[in-house]
Amino acid sequence: MSVRSLFTLLFTVSLGVTFLFIYFTLQIVWLLLGSALPDSTSVLGYSFPTLFIIVLAGVFLFFLLLFLFSILYLLIDRLIVQPIKIIADAMHEFAEHSHQVELPPFSSTTNEVKWLSTVFTEFTGSVERVHNRDMEVSRMKSDFISTAAHQLRTPMTGIRWALEALQKSGLTPDQQTLVDSATSKSKDLVGIVGTLLDISAIESGKYVYKFVPTDIETLVQDITQEFSVMASTRKVSLFFAKSGEAIPKVQADSERIKWVLSNLIENAIRYTPAEGSVQLSVTTGMGRVIVRVKDTGIGIKEEDKSSIFERFYRAQNAIEKEQAGNGLGLYIARTIAKDHGGDLMFESNKTGPGTTFTFSLAIAR
Ligand code: ADP
Repeated sequence: MSVRSLFTLLFTVSLGVTFLFIYFTLQIVWLLLGSALPDSTSVLGYSFPTLFIIVLAGVFLFFLLLFLFSILYLLIDRLIVQPIKIIADAMHEFAEHSHQVELPPFSSTTNEVKWLSTVFTEFTGSVERVHNRDMEVSRMKSDFISTAAHQLRTPMTGIRWALEALQKSGLTPDQQTLVDSATSKSKDLVGIVGTLLDISAIESGKYVYKFVPTDIETLVQDITQEFSVMASTRKVSLFFAKSGEAIPKVQADSERIKWVLSNLIENAIRYTPAEGSVQLSVTTGMGRVIVRVKDTGIGIKEEDKSSIFERFYRAQNAIEKEQAGNGLGLYIARTIAKDHGGDLMFESNKTGPGTTFTFSLAIAR
């Protein structure tokens, strides 16, 4: 119960009691007035003037009590309630922005409230220092990843070109196999370096987009086509089921969206055993365009569900199915989806296999 409501209750009770008091007094006065000789009449041994004084004293007492309660309330309000309200507002601000909050000096309050205010200011100061240190460490980490990735990219690209040139230079079958394997691995490495550069750009807020109205259905169709070879090599049926609905254009950076869709389709194919299927669809709902990538693959277990969008996280069943992977794709994909005013979510069967990723995008205006 708040102090304000406590005093409202006290006020009401004292008012009620006083009214009762006045009521009974008036009854007595009425009795007196009804009698022929008011000055000689006595009730409970009191004469009329005495009873009148008692009524006046009761009313006076009521107002006196009311006044005292009001003063007490104002004092408590000023000394305790208002400072606590200011501290509560400061806590709210601190919870939202995590920076040190300066409180007024509170010269007239109780020592306990002053102590609370001092401790709170110290607490917010130390949290802000830890927060700033974390930000600094995170910035240094991002800078390091970015510099390392940039340094790696040039020699990696050189190696890839050299290997591609070597592939065309009349090699024996054994040499060809080795060079093919080295070329494929160097492509993976260039991909990883690109992903690391994307991560550091995301974390330093330098991930830029070129938003234009984009025909998402055509994009999905083209990418499905691009992955058809990979799907048939792995004996997974991949198809785009057109809904027949008129799909509006979305406001998107088509290169980035292509990246997200490629990642989702590639994952769906990789994590679906042979004879399984991957189905894509595009629909609208809740003022958005929704792309679904549904597979009949290994699924995502209950214990992995909360971590799947974390950087570098890979579920055990995924590692067993596919050794290659870095656990960065979904983290980047979700960032891109959110930066487009949309989201990336998934549903995975509790009982059977299969996962459906849902990628929503804002409709272009
Ligand atoms: P990667 O696939 O390289 O491991 P991602 O970030 O793309 O990295 O995916 C993170 C993890 O999410 C995967 O390692 C896997 O555990 C899980 N995952 C993603 N897509 C699927 C899918 N379609 N079916 C089952 N698990 C998936």
